[in-house]
Amino acid sequence: MLEVEQSAELIQCTPDAGWLIERIARVCYHSEDRMKCDCPDGRCPRCAARRDAFLASLIKRRHESVFEHAAATFRLMTDRGVTHELVRHRLASYTQSSTRYIRYAEGVPAVRPLFTSPEREGAWREAMRQAEKAYSALLDAGAPPQEARDVLPACTAAIIFVTANFREWRHIIRLRLAKDAHPKFRVLAHLILTSLAPCCPVFFSDIEKELA
Ligand SMILES: Cc1cc2nc3c(=O)[nH]c(=O)nc-3n(C[C@H](O)[C@H](O)[C@H](O)COP(=O)(O)OP(=O)(O)OC[C@H]3O[C@@H](n4cnc5c(N)ncnc54)[C@H](O)[C@@H]3O)c2cc1C
Ligand SMILES: [Zn+2]
Repeated sequence: MLEVEQSAELIQCTPDAGWLIERIARVCYHSEDRMKCDCPDGRCPRCAARRDAFLASLIKRRHESVFEHAAATFRLMTDRGVTHELVRHRLASYTQSSTRYIRYAEGVPAVRPLFTSPEREGAWREAMRQAEKAYSALLDAGAPPQEARDVLPACTAAIIFVTANFREWRHIIRLRLAKDAHPKFRVLAHLILTSLAPCCPVFFSDIEKELA
């Protein structure tokens, strides 16, 4: 077994997302002229502070569709249990490593549970040993990976690329950071939030406070 850590790598994010969202939202009020003071492009500190207040007012009024104009793509390392839950979120695009085609000849990669006792860790390690043994035996007997995978556990590691707009990311993070979400997904959601928050602090930074 190859133990791997969960990770969230921000691959791409709409540049200057706050500016873009303000630019678009102001069409609703015909107030584009308020995008900037006497600075050249509305990016001075004074305009940035005013922009944050404007975006905060949109969020307060649940005028959230304007945040769909910005998007982010992540490369996530997690396990099959978590990807199974993640792909239930319908307003996102996904591409993940396939257990049908990948042959784990060097050992099955796995994300360990968040153990609370040595007994539980021991039981998990024993189950992993058995699963890996069965997987290897099937490959050795000529089974293709798509057949051998039937004995792989939910903690088998997976890489998944996810692209979603900011509104959907906010929704996913809120649901999956909440106390009743799966512990591994909570860890992953926190990693995503940490990387995404700087892209549009006013839209993402309140989530943790709200859930505290
Ligand atoms: C703690 C927890 C426990 C869960 N337990 C289970 C479980 O036991 N079994 C199970 O099957 N699932 C379970 N789920 C999954 C859950 O039911 C949702 O499928 C999942 O969280 C995706 O979120 P979502 O439906 O809000 O929508 P997303 O697909 O992320 O869509 C975002 C939003 O768009 C809107 N939307 C999207 N599609 C539609 C539509 N067709 N019609 C109307 N509005 C739409 C909704 O407002 C939705 O909230 C669980 C989720 C959580 C967080
Ligand atoms: Zn300015």
